[in-house]
Amino acid sequence: MPFSHLAAELDELEADGLRRRRRVVESAQGSRVVEGGREYLSFCSNDYLGLANHPALIEALRQAASQYGVGAGASHLVSGHGAPHHQLEQELAAFTGQPAALLFSTGYMANLGIVAALAGRGGEIFADKLNHASLNEAALLSRAKLTRYPHLDLDMLERRLAASTARRKLVATDAVFSMDGDLAPVPELAALCERHDALLLLDDAHGFGVLGEAGRGVLEHFASRLTSGASRIVYMATLGKAAGVFGAFVAGPAVLTDYLVQRARSYIYTTATPPPLAAALSASLKLIAAESWRRERLRDSIAALKTGLKSSRWRLMESATPIQPLVIGANRETLAVSDALRERGIWVPAIRPPTVPKGEARLRISLSAAHSREDVARLVEALNELEKIAA
Ligand SMILES: *Cc1c(COP(=O)(O)O)cnc(C)c1O
Repeated sequence: MPFSHLAAELDELEADGLRRRRRVVESAQGSRVVEGGREYLSFCSNDYLGLANHPALIEALRQAASQYGVGAGASHLVSGHGAPHHQLEQELAAFTGQPAALLFSTGYMANLGIVAALAGRGGEIFADKLNHASLNEAALLSRAKLTRYPHLDLDMLERRLAASTARRKLVATDAVFSMDGDLAPVPELAALCERHDALLLLDDAHGFGVLGEAGRGVLEHFASRLTSGASRIVYMATLGKAAGVFGAFVAGPAVLTDYLVQRARSYIYTTATPPPLAAALSASLKLIAAESWRRERLRDSIAALKTGLKSSRWRLMESATPIQPLVIGANRETLAVSDALRERGIWVPAIRPPTVPKGEARLRISLSAAHSREDVARLVEALNELEKIAA
């Protein structure tokens, strides 16, 4: 039986309560989603600003599809680099206040390409223990030495940097940690990189569009404190979360993006994103900049959730972002709470090891500007009720 070892492993996952299943969504993303013919109040998407199904994006996509067709047809360096991609790059640079930007097909690919290009063989990558999987895999692929430091432990990082004799040093970190919702101390990290001649790669997948008054992300959030080492930052963000579409980009000095065009293999050896997606992203950027009410609505929802869950035995993690993890602990109890919410028509995903450490299984509550006050109140009420039953 050629696949029997795979079947055995699947059985093991099942027995440990770790087997994952995909649910088929039959509607657009939004505060309500339909699955299996039933409508759920959704707290499970990264569509933080409620733009994934916005009419302006749909219209931009439609128009661009009429003009440019669907497929890019080739990679960027052959003949796939279209006018919508080019325009979007200029808009992303202007929006983030950086001289240049380069569009990648996905965040996963952007990290693979950037990390390997900036720290190859003979280099050393310093990575926070809770970084996104794509950054870890990028480090492995790069053949640089990978040194992981405990979450947010700047003393340990400094010691490791000081001890390094690598030719090129790259500190890589999530700006907003995707399973905890907390922020990397960017000004302190940049200052460390300045002292130890390292570059600082910030993965702002969850901050772009959300953090800062204008939604420019983690750099805007920390702008007033960011001085030493600011010029060492390689800013990367994804476009499938708050921006509501798909893709990712890196922004920085032109020498950086020029270099990546030559050396980032995940940029060079892949088909360019469909041009209509780039057009939809241009429309999205305009809304991110213009509609600050979306960020205000988010802040209100975060505050309402924190106040509402105050007395819970379950621990709401310290997070000022739309990622609000409620730590329950055991895998099965976490799954049971997630299932009980589903019975009540509320969809909140259970996140289990190995995505999070053992014993820290959690509900990952994702808030969105699409949620009303009543939506958040309904979630709070359901959780408080379930917590009483479990106690
Ligand atoms: C989602 C995410 C990615 C991957 O981005 P995709 O565009 O979905 O491939 C990378 N880094 C972080 C921190 C993420 O949360």
